Amino acid sequence: MKRHFNTKEELRDYLNLHSNEKSIGFVPTMGALHMGHISLLKKAFTENDVVVTSIFVNPTQFNNQEDLINYPSTLEDDLKLICEISEEIVVFTPSVQEMYQENVRSKNYDFEGIDLYLEGLDRPGHFDGVGTIVEELLRIVSPDKAYFGEKDFQQLLIVKSLVKQLQLPIEIISCPIVREANGLAMSSRNSRLTQTQRDRAVFIYDSLNLAIELAKNNNPQQLKKLIEQRFSKEADFDLKYFEIACVDNFLPVTEFEANKHYRFLIAVVFHDVRLIDNIGYTHFVIN
Ligand code: AMP
Repeated sequence: MKRHFNTKEELRDYLNLHSNEKSIGFVPTMGALHMGHISLLKKAFTENDVVVTSIFVNPTQFNNQEDLINYPSTLEDDLKLICEISEEIVVFTPSVQEMYQENVRSKNYDFEGIDLYLEGLDRPGHFDGVGTIVEELLRIVSPDKAYFGEKDFQQLLIVKSLVKQLQLPIEIISCPIVREANGLAMSSRNSRLTQTQRDRAVFIYDSLNLAIELAKNNNPQQLKKLIEQRFSKEADFDLKYFEIACVDNFLPVTEFEANKHYRFLIAVVFHDVRLIDNIGYTHFVIN
């Protein structure tokens, strides 16, 4: 049976016929699939009757045209990988025309301030683009659960905020970061790096782990300075930000408070490839 669709209408028709009374899990992606995406699909598969995934490189979330043009596309391999998990997974691969018609523009959202720094600051308009496409996809698929990776931690919070403000009855499931054997966070963009460069890029994850060690004896400002200094000595890494956010409200912090949870977030341009990563940190204080 055909489960690969390019139009909203075909996908809706299929779901109307085959998902009655069944739970739907949805995994939106931009393709060039790797084990990070696969982990989301597998989780969705164990938790739902029907799994839908989309592969769509969304132009409105790219503020940099070159980044969009260079974004990897491996549709045939992606379809094979999906089939290896299950031939029953429904795949949606719309064109830009199908999703936007003639109006390739973002809507404007109020993301309660979450979008005002980090990726939002470094990539103006990025989260309005993410909001626009995620809203449209969620409305087409109407899933019970949608799966997003912690690799894009800020995006995960943006999507939670979006679903809350639109009052969509969808549970957003967050999934842990999948890493290469050496620790580098898996990313479609890694395919633009040589193996030697990927080995070198582990410096990013190593820096996050070092930050956890340093956080025990340094306040956030000192910690930021230490990590910035570390990167300033490495000519091949262009550090875009290293930030410390409290997980309660996702605002940058100036002090660590006892036993609170934080997220260290980093963005780096390395050999023209923009890489992001993050790690959780709890400031344990034993009395
Ligand atoms: P993308 O195709 O990069 O838009 O990613 C699609 C989904 O996969 C997003 O929810 C990402 O956060 C998630 N994802 C990407 N890379 C990873 C990873 N290494 N581990 C876990 N989830 C990931």
